[in-house]
Amino acid sequence: MTEALYYTDQEITEFEAHVARIDTVESKFHVVLDKTAFYPEGGGQPADRGTIDGIAVEDVRKLDDIVHVLSRKPSGETVHGSVDWRHRWDYMQQHTAQHVISAALFAVGSIATVSVHLGEQYLTVETDSASISDETIENVVATVNRVIGENRPVRARWVDEAELASLDLRRPTKHTGLVRIVEIENFDRVGCGGVHAPSTGAVRIANCVGIEKIRGRVRTIWMAGDRAVDHYRLTAQITAALTELLSAKPPEIVGRVTATIDALKNAEYQVRGLTERLASAHARDLIERAEKTPTGTRVVAQELTDGKEYARSLAEAVAAESQTAACLVSRDEAGRVLWWIAASDDAGLDWTAVRRDLFPIIDAKGGGRPPVWQGVGEGDTTRFLRAFVELNQK
Ligand SMILES: [Zn+2]
Repeated sequence: MTEALYYTDQEITEFEAHVARIDTVESKFHVVLDKTAFYPEGGGQPADRGTIDGIAVEDVRKLDDIVHVLSRKPSGETVHGSVDWRHRWDYMQQHTAQHVISAALFAVGSIATVSVHLGEQYLTVETDSASISDETIENVVATVNRVIGENRPVRARWVDEAELASLDLRRPTKHTGLVRIVEIENFDRVGCGGVHAPSTGAVRIANCVGIEKIRGRVRTIWMAGDRAVDHYRLTAQITAALTELLSAKPPEIVGRVTATIDALKNAEYQVRGLTERLASAHARDLIERAEKTPTGTRVVAQELTDGKEYARSLAEAVAAESQTAACLVSRDEAGRVLWWIAASDDAGLDWTAVRRDLFPIIDAKGGGRPPVWQGVGEGDTTRFLRAFVELNQK
């Protein structure tokens, strides 16, 4: 059995250990040591990171022994382990926060914790409740941060079954024999095999940033620890920038942005209507001046300087009139050719011939379905437009 140094002293980051065994599993080396400070994945808490003899520890798993997964094999009989303390401390904060949150949910609303997840950004606590009121969440957040502020000691100890029977745990433990108990002084007591901050003050701050329904139950989403402090600094910067940009006090920002979005949608709606009317008038003008084929189809071939949204509307407007065919070209900022080909149902445009004869002229790419095709290309548009007119004269 590997001696778990993180239970003796959870602040050990550097240690020497003897190699007990190395197994090769799918081109990885599973290194078992006589003792380790690397915490293995468990209880919703991810495995530690760090190095063994300078080789990155990719994973740590608790099987029969504690297994360190490495991509290279350490050569010595004794090795030096180094735990990434930033990573460890982050998750010690997250895990400790989770204890405080679960205890506060239970204390405030008799809400039990079903499962937890400590993610890279958030920690989540899935509860046994189908719904939790905003007021309860507010009380839980207040309780959590009060307990953090009180900086209560967090202690772990092993108890036997006799003592366990006399202890009032927040949730019953499934383990038998010696059981590890984690207590937040005068606030919470549960069975847990994880690593924790020495006191609740280390969590610094915790805030419920959202709730969601999962499997018919409420899952609460939290930001806690140094991450939450960093997040606060970021949101404060964003708020300051919005305050200046919108000339609004922070509580007015949401209302101001909502009004701006509504005004924008209204303007877009009006622009769309005006564009269609303009395109329709422009289309009639182009059709009037267009060349006629022997069968009476009016063929529009035009280079445009307008934006592509307008060109599409114009192509559609031409095709909406009977016996019409149009080829419109424009260029984007990069100088690429943008093209639209449109034809009314009764124009008899041979789409296969368009693809076969016209596309190679500008190395055209694109497609669509009648009445409008569109795409991009490159090169000489004059020849492309002339070829379109000639195709329709056939
Ligand atoms: Zn724990």
